[in-house]
Amino acid sequence: MSLNPVRPWRNIYRRKSRQIQVGNVPVGGDAPISVQTMTNTDTRDVAATVAQVQAAADVGADIVRVSVPDEASARALKEIVRESPVPIVADIHFHYKRGIEAAEAGAACLRINPGNIGSPDRVREVIAAARDHGCSIRIGVNAGSLERHLLEKYGEPCPDAMIESGLEHIRILQDNDFHEFKISVKASDVFMAAAAYQGLAEATDAPIHLGITEAGGLTSGTIKSAIGLGNLLWMGIGDTVRVSLSADPVEEVKVGYEILKSLGLRHRGVNIISCPSCARQGFDVIKTVEALEQRLEHIKTPMSLSIIGCVVNGPGEALMTDVGFTGGGAGAGMVYLAGAQSHKMSNDQMIDHIVEQVEKRAAEIEAGEAAPKAAE
Ligand code: SF4
Repeated sequence: MSLNPVRPWRNIYRRKSRQIQVGNVPVGGDAPISVQTMTNTDTRDVAATVAQVQAAADVGADIVRVSVPDEASARALKEIVRESPVPIVADIHFHYKRGIEAAEAGAACLRINPGNIGSPDRVREVIAAARDHGCSIRIGVNAGSLERHLLEKYGEPCPDAMIESGLEHIRILQDNDFHEFKISVKASDVFMAAAAYQGLAEATDAPIHLGITEAGGLTSGTIKSAIGLGNLLWMGIGDTVRVSLSADPVEEVKVGYEILKSLGLRHRGVNIISCPSCARQGFDVIKTVEALEQRLEHIKTPMSLSIIGCVVNGPGEALMTDVGFTGGGAGAGMVYLAGAQSHKMSNDQMIDHIVEQVEKRAAEIEAGEAAPKAAE
């Protein structure tokens, strides 16, 4: 992200990390912070899994993770990788053979903890398979599954135990001269996760995968993730994010993007600025925003749209957005284009008209004829 010399209070100074590749997606360094999700289909069902990967990619997922619990899943992974539009991370627990099979199947990254897969020979075999097939590795420390010796040492899961676990796994990879790795230290408790990530960020220059694990359902999990991940991202920590929700993976991607958009770290699609509405509204703000969110899902160009119920805040918000609509009197409101007042439009034709204006503006921005207004 470039620094803003005019509004320095908007700047986020990103931690300097090494860059690795997850397939064709760079992670770390100055690469854009990538958004990930994970499928929840049966991996052996190739068609269902590919459909879910595609749906996540359609809303902007850069990387998708797929569980590989058995040999049949590893076989299916090969086809999934072939049909996926984005790099696939294979999620492996304990079974070193699944790690080797997943690397052979074309996974772009293995999520595996080298300390948990057995003897040094087995670890070496998995690392060799990753190296031979251009696979990176994600070390995934989780507060809920810390190694027994660390639980005995610290008494309970805590940030220090998580950091120590992460560093132990890192050492195993480094001892095997393997450096294409990133790392996460997830916990469902935001305080524990934030403290662990801060400690980890100081202890290593590896790219960091952020996540609040088992965050909850769509509303509660979104809030928890926005607080936990938002706080870390604001501090400059995090190179790739996954929001974990008990919800459709598509929702995870949307929430991940919204968190990054709120911090101005990544932009995709239309950022809608809308008021909560009240008795002053000149049209039904809530219904209009719901309809526009759906009608504008296909726009990928980063741009902004303000939908404001009345003149109390409408003109001011419209100044900073690409397209704006402010409610007025007598069943019509004012349309603003590129921050300037443009023309009146009746409420009953307004949704179609705004969709048209947004599409037109997106085309202008894409053609390089206009710069987007930054309203994030
Ligand atoms: S902008 Fe107008 S309609 Fe919207 S909440 Fe404020 S006063 Fe109410």
